[in-house]
Amino acid sequence: MQFSDIPGHIELKNQLKSMVSANRLSHALLFSGREGSGALSMAMAFAQYLVCEKVNGQSPVLPTEVSLFGAEQDQVSHSPEKGEDSCGKCPACVKSKAIAHPDIHYSFPVIPKNAGSPSVSSDFFTQWRNFISANSYQNVYDWLNGLNEEFKTANTVSNKQGNITARECEEILLKLNLKSFESGYKILIMWAPEYLGKEGNKLLKMIEEPPADTLFILVAEDESQILPTIISRTQLVKIPSFENSEIAGYLINHLKISGERASAIAAVAEGNMREAILSTQHAAEDWLHFAREWMNSILKNGPVAQVKLGEELNKIGREKQKQFFSYMIHLMEQSMRFSALNKHQDLLQEKEQEFTDRFSGRTGFFQQEAIIGELEKGIYYIERNANFKMLFMAMTIKFYHIIKYNSLILIN
Ligand SMILES: [Zn+2]
Repeated sequence: MQFSDIPGHIELKNQLKSMVSANRLSHALLFSGREGSGALSMAMAFAQYLVCEKVNGQSPVLPTEVSLFGAEQDQVSHSPEKGEDSCGKCPACVKSKAIAHPDIHYSFPVIPKNAGSPSVSSDFFTQWRNFISANSYQNVYDWLNGLNEEFKTANTVSNKQGNITARECEEILLKLNLKSFESGYKILIMWAPEYLGKEGNKLLKMIEEPPADTLFILVAEDESQILPTIISRTQLVKIPSFENSEIAGYLINHLKISGERASAIAAVAEGNMREAILSTQHAAEDWLHFAREWMNSILKNGPVAQVKLGEELNKIGREKQKQFFSYMIHLMEQSMRFSALNKHQDLLQEKEQEFTDRFSGRTGFFQQEAIIGELEKGIYYIERNANFKMLFMAMTIKFYHIIKYNSLILIN
């Protein structure tokens, strides 16, 4: 992974590179970014940058004393050859890209492989390599879900919780105490330290006083779930969400999605690359079809059509159900915009405009807002394993009352 594989985040990439060139790299970094912000991708690109032979070979002589303020600009401008990016071609880059560099270690939550025996990351390394090579914007749910799918037995559904185990922490200590093999640096990328329980305290001493040239990069979505003792020993690097244009550009360049569709998907994804990539796997027309069916069933066709649609949507699975609700939210937001300003944004396709025109003809701003609120709650419940058919029917009834009688207050 090179920096150039990740769209946007220019300032952040420069910040990371200047940390290296100004010799201000801390031993432990916490990359914190919302789902789909590319925090893991950024950690991978940064690790590759650090081990790249071209970057290392041209390393400028660092002054013995780096002043805290003022010298940084000079430092950077004196070493432009330090490179904008890892070269992508040297043996270190090739190995890093293949998730096979001996000095870049990964640690991540895993499920118990056999009952009663704690697992470690290396037990699942092949799966991990495939997972992040395919798409490094996925989340922990995607990862653990995949493991559970793979390791379920013929007649039991596997739904094991993920964990970073005490045994894993011991392995980390062993690995990092070894001398680096090739690059000088030893890097540990720990994904989802939220899954590290109090056993994480085993790592504190090493994070505080690591062996020479050791770098911890923790990659998290939710800082509040990480052990405070760990947070206090790391330097925070905030990963912002992507801009719509960055997401659209990525979809066009990497996934060969048409410009029009990429813009429409980016508008729905709200800075979340994971959502955007998932959306490309489902045609927008299908979502619009479901949206129409839903509203028709509420306003015209009645309970039989509602149950039928609920069953149909039940089959597409949780992730797509969430996507569909996100898409509905996007349509509602566009309807609100149309109600308020009486004009469309360019990103809507013609058929979507038809839908929002009709919908704003029937409902007002506050009704649309109320429906968005219900859809957001719907996503929340799906994430917590709600029974979809029941949830869908409850939402349908609420929408009916909101649209028909504008009776939101009564329901809540
Ligand atoms: Zn290289």
